[in-house]
Amino acid sequence: MLPFQEILQNETSLDPKNWDNMRQLGHKMVDDMMDYLQNVRERPVWQKPTDDMKEFLSTNLPTEPQSPESIYEEFFKYILPFPEGNIHPRFWMWVIGTGTPLGMMADMLAAAMNNNNTIGDFSAMYVDKQVVEWSKQMMGFPDTASGILLSGASLANTTALIVARNAYGKRNIRKKGLRGTTAKLVLYTSEATHICVDKSVQSLGLGENALRKVPTNANYELDITALQQMIAADKAAGYTPFCIVANVGTVGTGAIDPLDEILAICKKEKLWLHIDGAFGAVAKLTPEFAPRLKAMEQADSLAFDFHKWMYVNYEVACCLIRDGKLHREAFASDPIYLLKHERGIAGGLDPVNNYGIELSRGFKALKVWMSLKEHGIAQYAAQIRQNIAQSFYLESLVNAHAHLEMLAPVTLNIVCFRYNPQNKTEKELFELNKMILMELHERGIAAPSFTVLKGKYAIRVANVNHRSRKEDFEALVKGVLEIGEGS
Ligand SMILES: *Cc1c(COP(=O)(O)O)cnc(C)c1O
Repeated sequence: MLPFQEILQNETSLDPKNWDNMRQLGHKMVDDMMDYLQNVRERPVWQKPTDDMKEFLSTNLPTEPQSPESIYEEFFKYILPFPEGNIHPRFWMWVIGTGTPLGMMADMLAAAMNNNNTIGDFSAMYVDKQVVEWSKQMMGFPDTASGILLSGASLANTTALIVARNAYGKRNIRKKGLRGTTAKLVLYTSEATHICVDKSVQSLGLGENALRKVPTNANYELDITALQQMIAADKAAGYTPFCIVANVGTVGTGAIDPLDEILAICKKEKLWLHIDGAFGAVAKLTPEFAPRLKAMEQADSLAFDFHKWMYVNYEVACCLIRDGKLHREAFASDPIYLLKHERGIAGGLDPVNNYGIELSRGFKALKVWMSLKEHGIAQYAAQIRQNIAQSFYLESLVNAHAHLEMLAPVTLNIVCFRYNPQNKTEKELFELNKMILMELHERGIAAPSFTVLKGKYAIRVANVNHRSRKEDFEALVKGVLEIGEGS
């Protein structure tokens, strides 16, 4: 008798026992979710997770089967009512995008096909490639550039910096590690740069100290004079500068570093220019920012998110590398199990794993592909401009009230302000504004986030929300004043 033979007498699968019931459930889910999205404005922006929910979500590993219908009921009861809030028109926390109904359904379609979008000759690979090509066109990168879709700007920054590090001086770092070079590599970025760049540098084996933090000016933009002095001092001390990471839209205030000057320094000093444009890079689509962001086209690499200011459902970002050859050299490998064939399913395009660390990857390209087609790039430019216009509108509301105070200049889509009744100490203002923020959330009024600017607690609105309207910012200001005056 063969081992396990009795199993072969009674084979099973994970498909539904009853396809009609599953289909019906699917229809119900689509209907419910369309209602959920369509009526989002009528609900509070956030609901505090209940003890009931937390208890339900700490039960042990399921052993017995349960019907899909009852699982969906549990989702409906315990999970759906307690969302992060970012699909709501009055959500502006961190930098978190809104998503769209078609994006939601694209994820369903992608899950149905369930491609592993890495290697092989099938349609999804071509969709992935087309989205990368479109990204290059959006950002003004040359045809010879390469790119890869990733989970977020964190990984896109890391991917770009790996290429930059490996490309430096052709020292075969990939084989020999940093031990293969005696150069003490250092790179530069502003103090306002996102922490994920620190993490990238840490994981590149360069050590966090290699990331030189250049001071910023009053607008939170990288200070060019300080940068030049730091590069000169490092060179004099025997360090080897290899890269500058410039911001297009800092996470705190949306500041844009002086790209033209940074580009000139990179050319003069032969440094790699990487741009973290996580959300801000797409401002390039607007006529107002296109000239100021023109230098981006000359960067060696660029990271930006689709899930932030392109409003695509989580999660998807893009990393572009000007020199596709360097990109490939940083990651390509050809183990026998990934050998590309002349024909058959293992044929087709250059495998995506030759351009990044990940092997298995989902079909996240589809939601970008469908979204870009659904609206066309002009509509994205219009939405982005709308968000910028709303930021200046909010600034005007703040400036119009004696008890509200702007804390940073508005550049793009981020507004930092505070409630200040003019009769409190700095310490009291810090606590008061923090309290106001938490109240705004708990009352479900609006969801701005926070930052601390020069020691001052700021209520921070980062607007990558296509659902927000003027009235939502009015409601925010009204809420801040009500809570503040009532305190
Ligand atoms: C959000 C953000 C990141 C990180 O991007 P993820 O998509 O969250 O990984 C990096 N830089 C800036 C400026 C950001 O706003």
